[in-house]
Amino acid sequence: MNIGVLALQGAVAEHMRSLEAAGAHAVAVKRPEQLDELQGLIIPGGESTTIGKLMRKYGFIEALRAFAAAGKPIFGTCAGLICLAERVEGQQGLEEPHLRLMDMTVLRNAFGRQRESFEADLNVKGIEQPVRAVFIRAPLIQSVGERVDVLCEVNGEIVTARQDSLLACSFHPELTSDVSLHRYFVDMVKQAENVAG
Ligand code: GLN
Repeated sequence: MNIGVLALQGAVAEHMRSLEAAGAHAVAVKRPEQLDELQGLIIPGGESTTIGKLMRKYGFIEALRAFAAAGKPIFGTCAGLICLAERVEGQQGLEEPHLRLMDMTVLRNAFGRQRESFEADLNVKGIEQPVRAVFIRAPLIQSVGERVDVLCEVNGEIVTARQDSLLACSFHPELTSDVSLHRYFVDMVKQAENVAG
């Protein structure tokens, strides 16, 4: 099971470590050609404007849309969630869109200055134990379309969601030793492989 971590900018090594701990072989992805060898991909947290620019520069936008269209799972965390979103609040028309794969509207840096970074234990649908989450200048999901399943909310705000083989969370699941969300994603990838069979 080869799962890539998009290695253009952001928390790459930590995701690779968590993926390995969850039983997958992790690959740092710097070129779109590498996607052919992968069954799933994580887009890490970092700075979404930078990751978006580099995705466009290196030809990842079309390549990742094709990857998703082939039913291969993608997991976006924090800035990666912003990259997956169909709509980014306040940014319509300001710059080139990102991947626009998940039917949701996201708001960047949504938790305010006082709470720029914080940790929480979250109840995520489909995962038995609470998930330890680190929020850093995190976005939140303001609204989702019908095809999107909300997996977790914090104070009424959506922070984890899934649309078929796309998973997104607004926090950093890779900065703790809790790999339950990575295990959940590895299971999604296994299921997609069985279907593709
Ligand atoms: N604030 C960043 C952005 O808007 C996301 C922060 C993160 O990934 N930790 O892209």
